[in-house]
Amino acid sequence: MKRAVFIYSSELEKYHYPPEHPFNTDRAKKLRALLHSMGMFDGPGRSEAAPVVAQRGVLEKFHSARYLDALQTAATGKWDLEALEMGIGTSDCPVFKGLYEYSSLATGATVVGAELILSDKTDIAFNPSGGCHHAGPEKASGFCYINDVALACAILAEKGRKVLYLDVDVHHGDGVAYGFYDRPDVMTISIHQNPRTLFPGTGFEEEIGTGAGKGYCVNIPVPVGTYDQAYMKAFEALVLPLAGAFNPDVIVFELGADGLAADPLANLRLTNNVYADIINHLLELGRPILATGGGGYNVENTVRAWALAWSVFCGDDKNDAAIHALGGVMLESTEWMGGLRDRQIPITDSQRSAVLHALDATIDKIKKQVFTIHGL
Ligand SMILES: [Zn+2]
Repeated sequence: MKRAVFIYSSELEKYHYPPEHPFNTDRAKKLRALLHSMGMFDGPGRSEAAPVVAQRGVLEKFHSARYLDALQTAATGKWDLEALEMGIGTSDCPVFKGLYEYSSLATGATVVGAELILSDKTDIAFNPSGGCHHAGPEKASGFCYINDVALACAILAEKGRKVLYLDVDVHHGDGVAYGFYDRPDVMTISIHQNPRTLFPGTGFEEEIGTGAGKGYCVNIPVPVGTYDQAYMKAFEALVLPLAGAFNPDVIVFELGADGLAADPLANLRLTNNVYADIINHLLELGRPILATGGGGYNVENTVRAWALAWSVFCGDDKNDAAIHALGGVMLESTEWMGGLRDRQIPITDSQRSAVLHALDATIDKIKKQVFTIHGL
């Protein structure tokens, strides 16, 4: 039986991005309410933990003092050109009330997860308020101010753990990838929509790390329209062998759900079954997993995907058909009784061949560049 901790505090509910902004901080609250209503905190081994605000000393493991000063100052209303040059106060990363408090608390939730894993108090930790993978050491970017996942990798690596960072958010996990670009102790793998078609415009196959880190950064760009079976083909062809060869001590898993079909910001055709399949593969590696949220701008679909993820982490998805029926009732989706799982999306032959043509070329390219480095 896996021990699983859900990390959340109602303190997080106090903060909101501006109303016109796509990032919805209420997703974690809705997820927790759904999990409670479905009794999904009741089984053996599972528990809840509260985050602790991440302090400056922790944040400085990834961010510069100058940047944190600017962020803290902007959040009190004193925003200037220097802050703007660091991405603070753009339309993507607006200044809002409680910005610093929110970011350092949401980050603290991921840090708590890393600490619970380091002290062997849990096998799985899930912080749905985390996953701010775009923030750089001195840059707010892509709705992200403090890079909690990069910090978690830094904290785990500092304690001598080999970290596999896997990012399935539809956008390139640039902040983390470049943060560990020259290091062989943190392998970053990001699967994301073709950067020619989506923010942040980076994460090509050729970006494989540098120096001692060469081969330890893996970018898997997938074409517009990528569907479940194609996505899993890339995952199985690339991620599974690389993860096996790297043999990590711990996995940090950024589970942005914006790859789902009908996400308003992206163009893939995934269903949440993909995330369940990936989690089952990760569980088979037998290593602790620190999972976070991330993107996901269709709120209902995102909440359901993360609820499904929690059920798979806890082993419910395999064992309990009742959960499926109950999910359908709780979500008031009267026509669909599949519960938390999305129904399959039909793919036409021309959609299939367009995706596979590009995807097969990507898989080959990555194998050629990275596999030999790992003896594959
Ligand atoms: Zn995203």
